[in-house]
Amino acid sequence: MYNCIICRYHEIATKGNNRNMFERCLADNIRHLLSGVAPCRVLRVRGRIWIEHPEGRDYTDEEISGMIPALRRAFGVETFSPAVRIASDMDAIRNAALEIAPPVFEGRPDTVTFRVRARRSNKRFPMRSKEIEIDLVSAVAGLFDHRRFKLDLDHAELTLGCEVRDEFSLLYFDTYEGPGGLPVGSNPRVLTLLSGGIDSPVAAYLVMKRGSPTDYVSFHSYPYTPAETTDKVKTIAAHLNTFQATGKLHLVNLLELQKAVRDNCSERLRTVLYRRAMFRIAERIARETGCRALVTGEALGQVASQTLVNMDTINRSIDMLVLRPIVGEDKLDTIAVAEKIGTMKISEKQVPDSCTVFAPSSPSTSVPLVIAEKEELLIPDYAGILERAVASRETF
Ligand code: ATP
Ligand code: MG
Repeated sequence: MYNCIICRYHEIATKGNNRNMFERCLADNIRHLLSGVAPCRVLRVRGRIWIEHPEGRDYTDEEISGMIPALRRAFGVETFSPAVRIASDMDAIRNAALEIAPPVFEGRPDTVTFRVRARRSNKRFPMRSKEIEIDLVSAVAGLFDHRRFKLDLDHAELTLGCEVRDEFSLLYFDTYEGPGGLPVGSNPRVLTLLSGGIDSPVAAYLVMKRGSPTDYVSFHSYPYTPAETTDKVKTIAAHLNTFQATGKLHLVNLLELQKAVRDNCSERLRTVLYRRAMFRIAERIARETGCRALVTGEALGQVASQTLVNMDTINRSIDMLVLRPIVGEDKLDTIAVAEKIGTMKISEKQVPDSCTVFAPSSPSTSVPLVIAEKEELLIPDYAGILERAVASRETF
């Protein structure tokens, strides 16, 4: 019964001169997310994004149910509603309300509380919002036994929304929440250091939500870590890519570097030295592939490598912006996001992690930069090891 979906955005509307770019980006992303789900034409109409069937016909219930989960992944969308579009004419609006109301009320037991919320941006329309609401409430009420039908302006179970615009009017019952944020692609591409853990997938999600598409780099220590380690990361990356046009995954074997650190450096420094090498390799890949920043799932103080001093020592291995979207989050809050976006059930699976290969039982929580730099000088052909790691990466 619906012939369109109307998408509302919030933050984009506050953009000045760039607003056009953000809207175009959002419309492109919606086209991408809906391709293969339902035929659609995506249009921009004054402050809204508008989806309709290219042949101008109604959508089927199946098509609408397929489009809802896709639009929930469209960063930039605040809310959206499947709707009926009609002419801005009170008779047409009332008739449409009488058509769409019965199936929505059907099957609800006992008393149904109901209200109408009307908005009028077309100031030449002869009725005011309140008058439109009263007209529609009495029309819909006429369809039902008065004992079953109850008007409730504050806590209604069913709300009929009505927007009267210049070009046309809209009626809808259900409003769904989008993810908010900014359309992915409205900021430059970044490279996320993706482990199989809980935190880095959430970090990748959050930068996408702020507009940056992301590629991924993940380090493994094959054959010291099993194939399941990289399989898990591939599954996570594939899931994260449902929020954006495909990002690439680079898999880098860190084992040669880890052996060199084991054989030449002080045991308690291994974790920080691994991490500095990871950053350096990631920076090279980012520059080679046009990514403008690195992203990690680091959270201040969470483990030995994430104390303030160690984060600083790791950070100074490179000369590129590092985004840490969850640096101040509690683990429980990060887990809640991971549950919501669907990465938790993949991350939960226990598989060996590259960082644990030759890991010290008691890693230093405070490695000064000068010490890390001195230790790295003890590694023969350190530059060559990094170069080989970058060159031999596999990209998916
Ligand atoms: P996560 O849950 O993301 O694994 P964590 O809390 O376990 O994070 P660490 O293992 O110390 O923390 O890792 C901190 C960050 O370093 C990760 O969030 C990730 O961005 C990066 N990182 C760690 N291990 C790897 C890896 N094997 N490959 C790529 N990046 C990694
Ligand atoms: Mg980890």
